[in-house]
Amino acid sequence: MNTMLKMFINGKWEESLSGETREIINPFNQDVITLATEGNRLDAQRAIKAAREAFDTGEWRDVSSVERGHLLFQVAEKIREYKDELSHLETLDTGKTLEESKADMDDIAGVFQYYAGLADKDTGDVIESPIPNSISRVVREPVGVCGQITPWNYPLLQASWKLAPALAVGNTIVLKPSEITPLTTIKMAEIFEEVGFPPGVINIVLGSGATVGAELSENPDVDLISFTGGGNTGRKIMQAASGNFKKISLELGGKNPNVVFADAHMETAVDYALNAVFFHSGQVCSAGARLLVESTIHDEFIEKLKEKASKIRMGSGLDEKTQMGPVISKEHLEKIEDFIQLGKEEGAELVLGGKRPENPALQQGFFMEPTIFTNCHTRMRIVQEEVFGPVLTVETFDTEEQAIKLANDSVYGLAGAVWTQDGNRAERVVKQLRMGTTWINDFHPYFPQAPWGGYKQSGIGRELGSAGLEEYTELKHIYTNLQPQPMGWF
Ligand code: NAD
Repeated sequence: MNTMLKMFINGKWEESLSGETREIINPFNQDVITLATEGNRLDAQRAIKAAREAFDTGEWRDVSSVERGHLLFQVAEKIREYKDELSHLETLDTGKTLEESKADMDDIAGVFQYYAGLADKDTGDVIESPIPNSISRVVREPVGVCGQITPWNYPLLQASWKLAPALAVGNTIVLKPSEITPLTTIKMAEIFEEVGFPPGVINIVLGSGATVGAELSENPDVDLISFTGGGNTGRKIMQAASGNFKKISLELGGKNPNVVFADAHMETAVDYALNAVFFHSGQVCSAGARLLVESTIHDEFIEKLKEKASKIRMGSGLDEKTQMGPVISKEHLEKIEDFIQLGKEEGAELVLGGKRPENPALQQGFFMEPTIFTNCHTRMRIVQEEVFGPVLTVETFDTEEQAIKLANDSVYGLAGAVWTQDGNRAERVVKQLRMGTTWINDFHPYFPQAPWGGYKQSGIGRELGSAGLEEYTELKHIYTNLQPQPMGWF
């Protein structure tokens, strides 16, 4: 790529008012992929103004729900049409393997298709009015201008979870992608333009969290803020959003337990435990970074895990032999290294990895070997905090009660899995897990039809499913008196 990435504001491709730019870096080799215009608060303000006008007075108001659904179907089709290009861009930008990027694009098309189908389904409810000669209805309406802020690990996937439901119900949007991974979100704006959404309905502003993100969170013309990212950022956004009591939706971090009982199918559980934590180099909010394994099978399980993890092929995401790419940036790699050092100091036993690979071909990339710590316990920070890298901690348990207690011993509550061939036990355990998503004999599946979100400090609200649509609506009660006549009260 050699053109500069521009922002999409009010249906036009714009450079930032400041003229500043940012280099977008390939995490595999540190090459500059492209320059991106670097927006600031002023650019965010003009995008918010465009979204406000499009919502209050623009032609978007008159677009029927059937037509909105039709537009979203076309977006789903375009994503399928441009799948190769989009996947290539996502891999360049994030380092993830092309296979992962392609799977992301399939999921994204599925999200738009799902919400396209829902766009014209909510016809409202007639409710039984307790007052004679009256009719009472409840309808859902769009919230208004939505600010949306996305992270770098699933740049376009996370954007699609926000864009599709918000558009399905008639909101207007200002979205800010992560400043380090904007490529696919900009390509998506081209798709919106091609499909023909009216100007101002979708605006994409590039720039940092401290400027553009903060403006979206604070600005009183924004009615709702939806954020996916880290907890500390979420806290700042929540405070900033309190100025005009914006509706708020937060998808935050996780430290997700993967609980393996002795009666689990060993080969399958080992295979999924690897995928749970090393997929996308562990940079997944629902990564199974905390393995809880029943004591009696611990040694055998860890031996098998180590053997397979040591063979994971690291490399360029564009090379089809690669199984694990780099992490996103130098800063992030250093943060992961600090956590590994901390784990050692806390007394966890490093049994695999823990360092950058020696392969000369990987020296320019931000690589970390698959890393396993055993002998961990819940009071260790390496167990409690989100590392967001290819680092697994292993704890043991002896009873079902202990497994549940350990799994819930976390400030987070995003996701967790249970492995056992005893169906009753599986049901008993997941019922007691304080998490938004639980898997029995599996790890990671999610799809547009089911809600996604966290208990406890993993977030507020839900994305995906019908719950993800409701986040973007206000409920209105419409009451009609069928026989108006003077009350005679005064
Ligand atoms: P981050 O919080 O650093 O950044 C996320 C976004 O917030 C970026 O666009 C950033 O520019 C913006 N931002 C930063 N400071 C801001 C501010 N003061 N005001 C407004 N916006 C600001 O997170 P990240 O490092 O990009 O992503 C990793 C985190 O995201 C992890 O904690 C991960 O668990 C979480 N995550 C959660 C989910 C989920 O579904 N729960 C999904 C993906 C990622």
